[in-house]
Amino acid sequence: MLQYQPDQFPYPLLRIGIIGGGQLAKMTTLAAKQMGFQVNILDPSPHCPTAHLADLHIVGSLYDADKLRELAKVSEVLTYDIEHIDTATLKMLYNEGHTIYPSPDLLEIIQDKLIQKQILAQHGVPVPCFEAVDSLTPDYLAQAHFPLVQKARLGGYDGKGVVILKGPEDADKVLQTPSIVEEWIDFTKELAIIIARTAKGETACYPVVEMVFDDKTNICDIVEAPAKVHPRVADEAKRMALLAIEALNGVGVFGVEMFLTRDEHILINEIAPRPHNSGHYTIEACITSQFEQLLRIISGLPLGSTELLRPAVMLNLLGEAGHSGPPLIEGLREALTIPGLSFHYYGKDVTQPYRKMGHITILGDHSEDALEKLERVKDVLKIVSR
Ligand code: ADP
Repeated sequence: MLQYQPDQFPYPLLRIGIIGGGQLAKMTTLAAKQMGFQVNILDPSPHCPTAHLADLHIVGSLYDADKLRELAKVSEVLTYDIEHIDTATLKMLYNEGHTIYPSPDLLEIIQDKLIQKQILAQHGVPVPCFEAVDSLTPDYLAQAHFPLVQKARLGGYDGKGVVILKGPEDADKVLQTPSIVEEWIDFTKELAIIIARTAKGETACYPVVEMVFDDKTNICDIVEAPAKVHPRVADEAKRMALLAIEALNGVGVFGVEMFLTRDEHILINEIAPRPHNSGHYTIEACITSQFEQLLRIISGLPLGSTELLRPAVMLNLLGEAGHSGPPLIEGLREALTIPGLSFHYYGKDVTQPYRKMGHITILGDHSEDALEKLERVKDVLKIVSR
């Protein structure tokens, strides 16, 4: 094997394998191609967002041990854009000497909302009060304190696997699966921070942002960067997010979701072990995007600056309700007349109600300016079906 000096790199810089070929893998691949990395992906769909962009696309299930091994064989480092993947095989690969960021042990912790919360709580990270419940029986509900939040331990995403029970009359909403039950937090804002952490333990924090959720879908609708919070709150949010990632000994890029309570304290809700929807704004608004940051970390390159260049808002473009099938992007011409607006389409060839189809980021001179532009475009730009 050829040996290089510490600051010499061949082309491609590194062969990266991404498990999952969704929009996060796509945006990571775009950054990777800019910098000279090779990207191989594993995804079951030949039409996934990263298909045709990746150097190699292994078509297969994210739980197929043979396909994971095939990806590992052609890649020097593995990462993932989704947490619902086969950790048993990843652990085997890791023990055989494959480099995987974030580690399969961390992924296993994150996959189970109970274990994730237990580890955070053990390390002094503030989280809502919670308990493990195998099944929310009528007896359990008869003595429960409402409102409460039931979360499936495994498999939830985008609000699926989470129900808020207001009282015993909501018994029909109960999920029949091992769960955690959490106190309901009467939060004033949902905040998030992207944290980057290297294998050497160096960290970088992006600005604190506010996530505004759609009441109907429980999917994050708008992200406002920076969040309008007191600097003391922003500092606490950063400290707690860092504490959480240190507690997990995380290496990679993490989306840390938080609640801001009425008395202005931070509670950590959950952690995503990958670039996160709340960090899409970093592509245009920060010196280093969350995707480039991940590439720097997994290839042992120095962390980039997380400085925010301009206030920004990000709007998720979800498939319109009542529309399924080949997509039609409505209102794009008008949207693109707005200065500072960037349009991202993920390349999904089928739209479905509330499916994440793309996003827009708007940079403003100040937050109000960006928000005002967003209001103008919100009802114009739509993903319907043909
Ligand atoms: P997912 O993994 O599906 O994103 P989350 O744990 O983030 O699930 O919950 C989805 C949403 O449900 C949160 O963004 C928040 O709006 C609401 N939620 C979750 N936990 C609580 C809680 N303890 N109190 C109040 N609302 C909550």
